[in-house]
Amino acid sequence: MYDWLIVGAGFAGSVLAERIASQLNERVLVVDRRDHIGGNAYDMHDQAGVLMHRYGPHIFHTNSQQIFDYLSRFTEWRPYEHRVLAEVDGLRVPIPINLDTVNRLYGLDLTSEQLEGWFAERAEAVDEVKTSEDVVVSKVGRELYEKFFRGYTRKQWGMDPSELDRSVTARVPTRTNRDDRYFTDEFQFMPKGGYTKLFEKMLDHPNIEVMLQTDYQDVRTKIPHRRLIYTGQIDEYFNFRFGRLPYRSLKFEHVTLNTRRFQEVGTVNFPMTQDYTRISEYKHMTGQDHPQTTVTYEYPSAEGDPYYPIPKAENEQLYKQYERLAGETPDVWFVGRLATYRYYNMDQVVGQALATFRRMAAARESRPEDAGAP
Ligand code: FAD
Ligand code: UDP
Repeated sequence: MYDWLIVGAGFAGSVLAERIASQLNERVLVVDRRDHIGGNAYDMHDQAGVLMHRYGPHIFHTNSQQIFDYLSRFTEWRPYEHRVLAEVDGLRVPIPINLDTVNRLYGLDLTSEQLEGWFAERAEAVDEVKTSEDVVVSKVGRELYEKFFRGYTRKQWGMDPSELDRSVTARVPTRTNRDDRYFTDEFQFMPKGGYTKLFEKMLDHPNIEVMLQTDYQDVRTKIPHRRLIYTGQIDEYFNFRFGRLPYRSLKFEHVTLNTRRFQEVGTVNFPMTQDYTRISEYKHMTGQDHPQTTVTYEYPSAEGDPYYPIPKAENEQLYKQYERLAGETPDVWFVGRLATYRYYNMDQVVGQALATFRRMAAARESRPEDAGAP
């Protein structure tokens, strides 16, 4: 009899397994249907020996000292600030849009102050910023929106930015200075030995067992357990009772090249041309010294693994139906990007898992016989 069955060995499942095993001293079985731990953050050495990410580029960034300190128990870090160029009008310019982006694209020599005025002249008045189109046109105007956001978003999500919640394009800010980093978080690092090593260390505890290539559906009645943590799709757990939650997928094309360096920065975005959205080169992120290099092309797709929840009002409503059902399901906790249908970064998932653990531990203290419902 396991105290806990945890479905999914990504950040959500692994953090909770580690906390429960080490802090509550209870027995945990982690199952994952894939043949590896780490979820979408999984990395590996490919045939050429280049350290790459099977599910696309993963860069760790956070403003939370607590999350950074927690993960630092399982890895050393390599400082890395991600930079991205967008190929627009035949030029490669910084994205997020900054002072250099505008000056280079339009052959101008504006100062930061002048750029503020330049944006203000072009920005469209929007009563209430609701959609992913509103966010951008209300800041920089329609022309830059069309060059940098419209095409990329249509490719990535299979729908127009006007149909998507504002939170999607709001992930990418607009700057009037020359800061060309993709993220401005206080902590920006890559795990020194890679993500998979971090997960191995996190799950290395006598109270934790891991079973791979194991689907929850196939074992749920066969493995005795007292409580369940589910980090897969919430709609799947409930047999799609209210209908399917939409997810966006990607096809990854990984290519190893006989050259040390392929592109100037970690990622190049293609908002106006190509069927893929971006190309990422891992050696920028990992700092690996290798005569070859591996890059990944990302082709958005409606079919395939569920990589992205799609933020829009009607999907949120459908999710709320499942969330209510989850709240009425005793001894099952739903955690992570798929189970809570949130477009979360890795640090947010770690934060959510740590918060869930604190609630479990508090409930257990008040009712020692039972950790209580979520
Ligand atoms: P997952 O990692 O998806 O883990 C869930 C696991 O559950 C999976 O391994 C799955 O196989 C397993 N599972 C599901 N159902 C079942 C079942 N029925 N039975 C058994 N196992 C099951 N975040 C960042 O912070 N920085 C980035 O640069 C970044 N880049 C990204 C790039 C891409 C292309 C994608 C798709 C995501 C990116 N993310 C990034 C987000 C990051 O991947 C997630 O925040 C994080 O991995 C989510 O962790 P999770 O544990 O919630 O889910
Ligand atoms: N985006 C865009 N053009 C870009 C970069 C991003 O239109 O050059 C939009 C697009 O809708 C994308 C969203 O902003 O899905 C969030 O971008 P981010 O780089 O955060 O996406 P992720 O790394 O999560 O795929």
